[in-house]
Amino acid sequence: MKNFGYARASDAATAVRTVSQKPNAKFLGGGTNLVDLMRENIEQPDFLIDVTSLPLNKIEELPDGVIRIGAAVKNSAIACHQLIRERYPVLAQAILSGASGQIRNMATTAGNLMQRTRCYYFYDSMANCNKREPGAGCDAIEGFNRIHAILGASDACIATHPSDMCVALAALAATVHVTGANGERAIPVVDFHRLPEDTPQTDTNLQPDELITAVELPALSFARNSAYRKVRDRASYAFALVSVAAALEVEDNTIKNARLALGGVAHKPWRAFAAEKIMVGAAANEDTFKAAAAEELKSSLGYKYNSFKIELAERTIVSVLKTLANERGAR
Ligand code: SF4
Repeated sequence: MKNFGYARASDAATAVRTVSQKPNAKFLGGGTNLVDLMRENIEQPDFLIDVTSLPLNKIEELPDGVIRIGAAVKNSAIACHQLIRERYPVLAQAILSGASGQIRNMATTAGNLMQRTRCYYFYDSMANCNKREPGAGCDAIEGFNRIHAILGASDACIATHPSDMCVALAALAATVHVTGANGERAIPVVDFHRLPEDTPQTDTNLQPDELITAVELPALSFARNSAYRKVRDRASYAFALVSVAAALEVEDNTIKNARLALGGVAHKPWRAFAAEKIMVGAAANEDTFKAAAAEELKSSLGYKYNSFKIELAERTIVSVLKTLANERGAR
């Protein structure tokens, strides 16, 4: 591992000022991904600004019913929180399906948003990888691409985003709050992560001097009827081949509201807007769910080892939506 400088920030303004002044500096939260990448020399920052002491570790309800989750809140604290479990079960389930208990106890909200792909070739410094070294090529396209993308990929990169939490946040239309040298701004989570296009080295639309301060969940009464399902090669401690986050409101067998997002299929958590459009106003039945899944996956493209994901995604979408419609959605 390369030597690096280290400082602990006591407030957000100091953290932002330090990252602006130090070349090649990064924020350090729980370190559950960044430190791994530094050990492998994939990430080589010259300076780390430890932001774990910033007062950003609360989950609170705002007067308008919005739930504000501080950037430093640990993943396990979100998953255990009563408000999250009652009002946004999809988020609690997504977090509990990720990583291990030990990692969830260390990993932060902001770190989860910022984690990098688990593409094998990205971690292998002997492989060609445009994300690690722009212009080097992509060994995954002709290589073993079982875990790679079927939606939104490019000729430069077919990696997937590894987070479970972010898939639930996409379905819930959460907002990411950041502060930087140019002030504060709010970024819809669906616009926070990028598709690879021809610059896969850039994962997000966050500026280098911007610090994530919070994630806000909108007041969404029908999100009480929501769920996350993760399909993976092992029952625990494995990344998603396909995952589905969904929320459904059904009245008199008609879908009033639908939210759907997919994980393990794209460079970013994939909000399924096309499927949602098919569902709202339609009958809450298997035909509708199949039509919605087919519409969303119309543009999907499989590679040598991951074409199975297309049918797997369709089946998982339909299964989760049927469960939500039958068990709690129909009123
Ligand atoms: Fe690198 Fe992306 Fe290709 Fe993986 S898929 S080798 S991360 S460029």
